[in-house]
Amino acid sequence: MNTNKFLLPFVIYHLISTVGLTIHPIDNLRKGFNDQISTDDSDIETASLDFGGMIKTKPLAVSHPTSADDIVSLVKAAYNSPQGFMVSARGHGHSINGQAQIANGVVIEMSGGSKGNKLRKEKQNLVLPQISSMHGNSSYVDVWGGELWIDVLDWTLQYGLAPKSWTDYLYLSVGGTLSNAGISGQAFNYGPQISNVHELDVVTGKGELITCSKEKNSELFHGVLGGLGQFGIITRARIALEQAPNKVKWIRVLYNNFSTFTKDQEYLISLHGKPISERFDYVEGFVIVDELGLVNNWRSSFFSPKNPVKISSLNTTGGVLYCLEITKNYDDSTANTIDQEVEALLKKLDFIPSSVFTTDLPYVDFLDRVHKAELKLRSKGLWDVPHPWLNLFVPKSRIADFDNVVFKGILGNKTSGPILIYPINKNKWDSQNSVVTPDEDVFYLVALLRSALDSGEETQTLQYLRNQNRQILKFCDESGINVKQYLPNYNSQKEWKGHFGDKWELFLKRKMQFDPKHILATGQHIFEPSF
Ligand code: FAD
Repeated sequence: MNTNKFLLPFVIYHLISTVGLTIHPIDNLRKGFNDQISTDDSDIETASLDFGGMIKTKPLAVSHPTSADDIVSLVKAAYNSPQGFMVSARGHGHSINGQAQIANGVVIEMSGGSKGNKLRKEKQNLVLPQISSMHGNSSYVDVWGGELWIDVLDWTLQYGLAPKSWTDYLYLSVGGTLSNAGISGQAFNYGPQISNVHELDVVTGKGELITCSKEKNSELFHGVLGGLGQFGIITRARIALEQAPNKVKWIRVLYNNFSTFTKDQEYLISLHGKPISERFDYVEGFVIVDELGLVNNWRSSFFSPKNPVKISSLNTTGGVLYCLEITKNYDDSTANTIDQEVEALLKKLDFIPSSVFTTDLPYVDFLDRVHKAELKLRSKGLWDVPHPWLNLFVPKSRIADFDNVVFKGILGNKTSGPILIYPINKNKWDSQNSVVTPDEDVFYLVALLRSALDSGEETQTLQYLRNQNRQILKFCDESGINVKQYLPNYNSQKEWKGHFGDKWELFLKRKMQFDPKHILATGQHIFEPSF
């Protein structure tokens, strides 16, 4: 392990001199920290960065916990010392705006890459994934909060099982996505990932390790789900599983008319709860504003560059095309009927007839599709660049206004990255969880997943893209479109109050109950530390 034990006295001295810890808590810290604390340059550097690449905050130290008890010791030390210090869990650091970063405090590397995992395995204190059954045939797995979803998938597949609800990208941690919501094209049917968790172990801001569920300590359970790390650190999650399919039929069809596109998307998500043979398993979509959009969409190289679709030949309105992306899972037992089932469903849709693109692939390859794109971008040096991403939940009643002004106006004819759009059923979300969504039965995720480049082109610069984001938010505000930011980013409590709306008082009450000293996840900028 790289942790430099000789640096421990220095760390403690540093914490004393910076945050004024007195002698008594240091003894506790010594006990609690053991060899989990690191001030290695590489650890500090990693913990000060995230995928957004726009904010860099160096912590005082980094913790590599080997068990939930290590986290309890650290948070207790932070909570009990007279002047205290802050603690922030970091999953895989895939936030955009420094949400897992911290200045005067300790970052807990929950995923910790190979180092953290190796340490936990050596100590054998980790939550070993356990597959079990409950409520008849519904299975679940217990996983460590810092586990990456790709590892959860690998593990559960060994038993022919898999989680039900996903994100598009699997190199995210369980605790990180559960602190937001965790959404992808399965959410219309199963709800977000936070609707597919049975139980959690959480270390609160007072350093208590509490098991919670809908039935037990439910305030904490609901608070933590979508709670932006404000109420506790998830150390174990019990994730609902289903029988894993073997293969996926992945289909893309194009539209040149926005209202036809959204009518079809909304029809498809209205089929949730129907027998599997009568609905798709995944419904997403994206917007294409430029010729290169189809082949340049980094999320997958589905449309072959050798066989490009000429947007100009498709009679678009305002130069914009919309792509519906759907999948149907199958295995050996359904391989004979899958084509008829897909055909029957496609017949009900109104896409451009010549624009059906279909591919077959193993289930794992479909779920892990964005990672392939990541590897390609990495090889070109295009992954570790600033990502001024903006994710919005837009109410269904105003999505056409959004299209008119944003897709056909503000974005111009260059997007600098994929623009996802898909509808979600609100009845699959538990209103007691902390996450906020628009007040309509159906709302859309619009994800502007853009990369800033120093290519010499003004439209690709960080400043230009950030300015566009501001214009989009200003337009929504001025025209009364009650959007909610997903993976929200605000800097003042006034803005946060506006974001949470009716839920603010409950959020505040839960904060006072579970993290009264405002120790946790200060990188979200919701609460000022109280010391
Ligand atoms: P981090 O960035 O490390 O942390 C995020 C927040 O959660 C921080 O405030 C942190 O303190 C807190 N936190 C982390 N771990 C814990 C824990 N164990 N307990 C309590 N709090 C914790 N999201 C989707 O919903 N759907 C997608 O399809 C999707 N695709 C993505 C694709 C890419 C390439 C990227 C970069 C992001 C994507 N996201 C998606 C967003 C992603 O879900 C969030 O950024 C999430 O927070 C990332 O998880 P992480 O483990 O990296 O968390």
